[in-house]
Amino acid sequence: MQMRAGVARKTIKSIRQQAFEQSHLFDSHLESSLDFERVRAAAKDGYGKPFLLIDSSIIREKSRRFAAAMPRVRPHYAVKANPDPRVLKVLIEEGAGFEIASTAELDLLTSLGVVAGEIYYSNPVKPRDFIAHAAASGVEWFVVDSVDEVKKIHSVKADAKLYLRIDTPNIGSDWPLAGKFGAHASEVREIIATSAKIRADLAGVAFHVGSQCRNPENWRVGIEKSRAVFDQMAKAGLNPRLLNIGGGFPVRHVKPIPAIEVIGDVVNRALEMFPASVRVIAEPGRFLVSDAGYFVCRIMGTARRAGKRWMHLDAGLFGGIMETAEGLKYKVRTDRSGPDISWNVAGPTCDSIDVVMRDEPLPSDLQEGDYIYLKNAGAYTTAYASNFNGFPLPEVRVI
Ligand code: PLP
Repeated sequence: MQMRAGVARKTIKSIRQQAFEQSHLFDSHLESSLDFERVRAAAKDGYGKPFLLIDSSIIREKSRRFAAAMPRVRPHYAVKANPDPRVLKVLIEEGAGFEIASTAELDLLTSLGVVAGEIYYSNPVKPRDFIAHAAASGVEWFVVDSVDEVKKIHSVKADAKLYLRIDTPNIGSDWPLAGKFGAHASEVREIIATSAKIRADLAGVAFHVGSQCRNPENWRVGIEKSRAVFDQMAKAGLNPRLLNIGGGFPVRHVKPIPAIEVIGDVVNRALEMFPASVRVIAEPGRFLVSDAGYFVCRIMGTARRAGKRWMHLDAGLFGGIMETAEGLKYKVRTDRSGPDISWNVAGPTCDSIDVVMRDEPLPSDLQEGDYIYLKNAGAYTTAYASNFNGFPLPEVRVI
């Protein structure tokens, strides 16, 4: 009997330990979302078209949290996540660097006083005239993931500093980026050999674990793979001195996520493989701006089709709610309290793909004119929007 009690105590202890480990890994951080009452008040204040309300104090808080979690890693904000100049200004004040995908993003940053030499051009395939424009503006760092791009950049700017984007696992990322980008082992060898031969300054390694990455191990594997590529580069006579651990740091929607501090522990430990002389940067997009914003739109009309309830919003896939197309689920709030029923939620255009959610449990009493609020939607919403079918672009309001 006594032994049984001992076993039971041990089991309880191990369950507790497991629970602790899991709560440490998932959702252990405080929620830092924009206050919902402020969002409601903003909608009541005046509504002409869908809008994104951004609280700049949350951007500041997230920047500081990132810096504290990974003191050795300088964040270079991925402008594509939300290029609103007011957002960029807050990040400049917080001391962030930047990562760009195009010269339009570059020009926007330089117009705000950002020094081009500190901007990383991380789009793996760049038009030749964009490279020339970036070089003329003072950009020094350019990503490559193919021999063709090494040669192209070298022919435009022979002294460019190149960093090699390698393929790494995107397991557990809600928005994978592997497959399209990242050099595999044989290409890595070829890129290193070509760079050494033409005397291109292949000066670092980059990877991206996939956006909204809920698996911290992806960073450890990426850093370990980068270490091996550093060694290959040095062996070929190159001088690697930059490690870029990319973006992918997740934010809270409906699935559990690891806290940035948990990811930081994994990253910081793995970085011990690199001497202090190696510059380490990251390219967070979503992490810095998503929680700061609520996307607000309105129901244009409702319908019943084949027995199914449909609501049509004044913003859909083309108007900013694009990420649901790949399965991202926002926390949706409304002003109604009726019992939930299953709704199909469509955007306003006549395109059949413009359906943002299917079988979403939402209050049965929702009707024309009601507001729909998407939580933590500060990233990849307004940045994606077009005015397809003549519907207006959403506005961004910053508080
Ligand atoms: N860096 C590059 C090259 C990217 O393509 C992206 C996103 O697509 C990011 C950084 C930012 O990723 P995230 O917003 O997931 O942090």
